[in-house]
Amino acid sequence: MKTEVKSTCCYCGVGCGVLIETEGERIVGVRGDPEHPANRGRLCTKGATLNLTANPSYRLHYPERRAQRGESTVRTTWDQALDEAAERFAATIRQHGPDSVAFYISGQLMTEDYYVFNKLAKGLIGTNNVDTNSRLCMSSAVAGYKQTLGVDAPPCSYEDILQAKVIFIAGANPAVAHPIVFRYVEDARAANPDLKIIVADPRRSESAEIADLHLPIKPGTDIALFNGMLHVLIRDGLVDDDYVARHTTGFDALAEIVRRYTPEAVAEVCGIPAQDIVQAARWFGQSGAALSMYCQGLNQSVHGTHNNAGIIHLHLATGLIGKPGAGPFSLTGQPNAMGGREVGGLSNLLSAHRDLANPQHRAEVAALWGVPSVPDKPGKSAIDMFAALKSGEIKAVWIACTNPAQSLPNQAAVREALQTAEYVVLQEAYANTDTAAYADLLLPASGWGEKHGTVTNSERRITHVNSAVPAPGEARHDWDIVVDFARRLGRLLGTDGERLFPYADAESIFNEHRESTRGRDLDITGLSYAWLDAAGPQQWPCPQGAISGKGRLYEDGVFPTADGKARFVPVKHLATAETPDAEYPISLLSGRMRDHWHGMSRTGTVPRLFNLEDEPVLAMHPCDMRHRGLSSGDLVRVTNARGASIVRVEERPGLKKGRAWMPMHWGSQFMNTPGVNAVACDATDPYSKQPELKHAAVQIEKV
Ligand code: SF4
Repeated sequence: MKTEVKSTCCYCGVGCGVLIETEGERIVGVRGDPEHPANRGRLCTKGATLNLTANPSYRLHYPERRAQRGESTVRTTWDQALDEAAERFAATIRQHGPDSVAFYISGQLMTEDYYVFNKLAKGLIGTNNVDTNSRLCMSSAVAGYKQTLGVDAPPCSYEDILQAKVIFIAGANPAVAHPIVFRYVEDARAANPDLKIIVADPRRSESAEIADLHLPIKPGTDIALFNGMLHVLIRDGLVDDDYVARHTTGFDALAEIVRRYTPEAVAEVCGIPAQDIVQAARWFGQSGAALSMYCQGLNQSVHGTHNNAGIIHLHLATGLIGKPGAGPFSLTGQPNAMGGREVGGLSNLLSAHRDLANPQHRAEVAALWGVPSVPDKPGKSAIDMFAALKSGEIKAVWIACTNPAQSLPNQAAVREALQTAEYVVLQEAYANTDTAAYADLLLPASGWGEKHGTVTNSERRITHVNSAVPAPGEARHDWDIVVDFARRLGRLLGTDGERLFPYADAESIFNEHRESTRGRDLDITGLSYAWLDAAGPQQWPCPQGAISGKGRLYEDGVFPTADGKARFVPVKHLATAETPDAEYPISLLSGRMRDHWHGMSRTGTVPRLFNLEDEPVLAMHPCDMRHRGLSSGDLVRVTNARGASIVRVEERPGLKKGRAWMPMHWGSQFMNTPGVNAVACDATDPYSKQPELKHAAVQIEKV
């Protein structure tokens, strides 16, 4: 008999609800959940083919260990595997201290999984070395929100897209990366022919095709554009002086800076016409309801935090925030990057949006967990963590639900780090990711359709995700693996792991996390699994006694800062980490394709998802191709000092001379050459520590 179970799509941060159709213990179908507020039954190609990924042949079924690097793995038992891991971690901690171990986890995990990983590192072991692939994704958005609005909270809802009069898409390509959000944009356009859509993107992306104004800015010049638009808003009297005076601080200092960002000066920096900058600013400022949407084009930059602040400034200056159809809206990359941030799953954060640097916050978390203290020394963020593995400062690493050997920039350095590490544990659903080759111990984890817990999408909406089928073989839930390991490690370290990790199920972890949010900006003390099942997915905050979650933040103009006011930050244009030169003359951009997700460990198992493109293609401008004697279809070597990738080149419209574009999805698991991350830049933003994955200077030559 067939049954349907409510879950979510496990790909992007739109967080679409799905109904998983099962027959016995098999997934046989999937469709969009018509009752889920995020998607109302709609799915993109990735979500609609999720059932085809439920193929056990790609999965890791049993714990496996490797006696030596380079040797094949052999099957082991869970007891032997977790005892070995606990002994190796305990020995390392005893000999070298708690900071000699690290955890590198994932925005694909459930919030409950994230919570126990965080508690294991910061509460039981006493290290803040727990970071996540969300560092590659949203950490600049986090830092941008905190610097300007006070806390990491996207203020808008998807419904606001339908009410916007101007939609400003910057550094994002939702037509392929967040397709169901883009359906909202298309619906808004259909309902309102006067809607203006502005897209700022160095490439004429799929999203730019419906734009009324495309701003093909030079890579990395976003701050110049936003400051130039602010200059025009001030010059043309489009600033809401009353809002600025009552609800913000720091405007005058920024206004002084942007005096120099005339449209003509900015046109020079950004490589776009001055009148287009004026037009964009006027549409924005005169709209009465401007919504901006942004993602990795702003985040994955050495000034990603200030990119985010720059676009938020436009809303604060015009008072277009906390109103219907208005506000800055960061589109979350991964399905549960938000949930991870909520439980403090980054090396500089603590539970419920608390800060590691704040002694009061550390004391609160220590009290909640029943531990003497939480260490104050900041942990290593992703790039620094792998550098510390390479240098030997970190000896042992536990990686969960992510594939750093493919997804981190400067792959050669990351792979050397993994090779150098004394001990690598990989907790993973899939058997053959690039990282698996470096693992001393492989622990099989449950995957989509099998997991149980909660996830939070881009609009702060928490969904209760149910298991539809059991995991294959001996695979276990991520939280369950962590809890079992924590208890064993606690016994060896003389810490009461049983007391700290008493959980019998995901719900008991959720309930502890819920309590940690009491009185915080993201207070969810009103939620429970039962309530989410009965009332449906809810947006936070949703404190005890609330009858529903909150759709829009800051409607009262009060911000969660010490003085209740939002802050303008004195941001200035700075260069990208690498400037094209004679040796590496091409600006290489990277991005997503419609039918694939991240490193393709899941979408790469579905043949029909290769119909659009069956290999990664480097897109180039015809002049750059002619200059190199290239024709479409030729194989080219893309190189810089970090590495090389060999791919086919094609002349594609939408790129300016001197720029090339390559999809991010392929790695050596799917072709005989490393992907774009072989050459991707690992320089980071000073505040968010997010690497500049979006831009690198390269040379391109015929093979
Ligand atoms: Fe899944 Fe994102 Fe597509 Fe929705 S938009 S179906 S969450 S990949």
